[in-house]
Amino acid sequence: MSKIFLIDVAKCSGCYNCQLACKDEHCENDWTPYAAPQPLTGHFWCKVSEHVQGTIPKVKIHYIAKMCAHCADAECIKACPENAISRRGDGFVLIDPAKCSGCKKCMDACPYDVIYFNSELKIAQKCTGCAHLLDNGVKQPRCSEACPTDAIVFAEESELAEELKGASPLAPGGKIYYKNIPGEFIGGTVYDPIEKEVIIGAVCLLTGGGLTLRAETDSYGDFWFRDLPRGGEYTLEISAKGFKTKQFAQIRTDKSVNLDDIPLEKE
Ligand code: SF4
Ligand code: SF4
Ligand code: SF4
Repeated sequence: MSKIFLIDVAKCSGCYNCQLACKDEHCENDWTPYAAPQPLTGHFWCKVSEHVQGTIPKVKIHYIAKMCAHCADAECIKACPENAISRRGDGFVLIDPAKCSGCKKCMDACPYDVIYFNSELKIAQKCTGCAHLLDNGVKQPRCSEACPTDAIVFAEESELAEELKGASPLAPGGKIYYKNIPGEFIGGTVYDPIEKEVIIGAVCLLTGGGLTLRAETDSYGDFWFRDLPRGGEYTLEISAKGFKTKQFAQIRTDKSVNLDDIPLEKE
């Protein structure tokens, strides 16, 4: 039996409550041997980052909360020359503040950039899973407890079987899973430059990566192809009755693409 965090990005409103709750729990509070006090500034053991996709006016924003993955095969443990880092039976990876010499080797080794240096105490620090609370009978770490939208859920992995469908672990065998991280989009607005009106119902065919996707422009003349894999290359064909077909080649989804206002010429 092991509890994990499931972070549903689609549910996250970007309120930063989790980040604040983590700081409230750990700043100026000494939870040794789990963790020494976190400094007031510079550390984000739970870090919410904002991701902006597209360009005005076709912009989508999502937020991702990130903390230590509590990796099954933790690079930080292997890198520590003092044996200060260990993985508990319940999977939480902890840095013993009494053993840490402040060499920063774990910080260099961590692939997820979630370890911070406490320059006053000269030690490395990170998310403890709020193990000091869990060991004392508290059911939820502060971040999941503070989330108003249940975007962060902390529960037995076996109880989350349904919710975990389509989720991916931050690190293999670790305790952090994400779902609904949006892919890239291609969007645009189709219009008639003579009538100065948007074209509703224009057919947009996107081909690439072995797929052909179809969309129609909505009542604003807009079309969207969402959740495309990053790094793809596509061809887009736009057709509407009474207009010449327009084609865009080599649209790359290294990031989301706003094709902006697209005029169609009358036949
Ligand atoms: S995410 Fe980084 S700090 Fe956390 S267990 Fe994995 S390697 Fe260690
Ligand atoms: S489990 Fe605790 S230490 Fe880890 S991110 Fe959440 S609040 Fe912070
Ligand atoms: S508390 Fe929940 S909704 Fe707010 S930023 Fe964190 S994960 Fe998102």
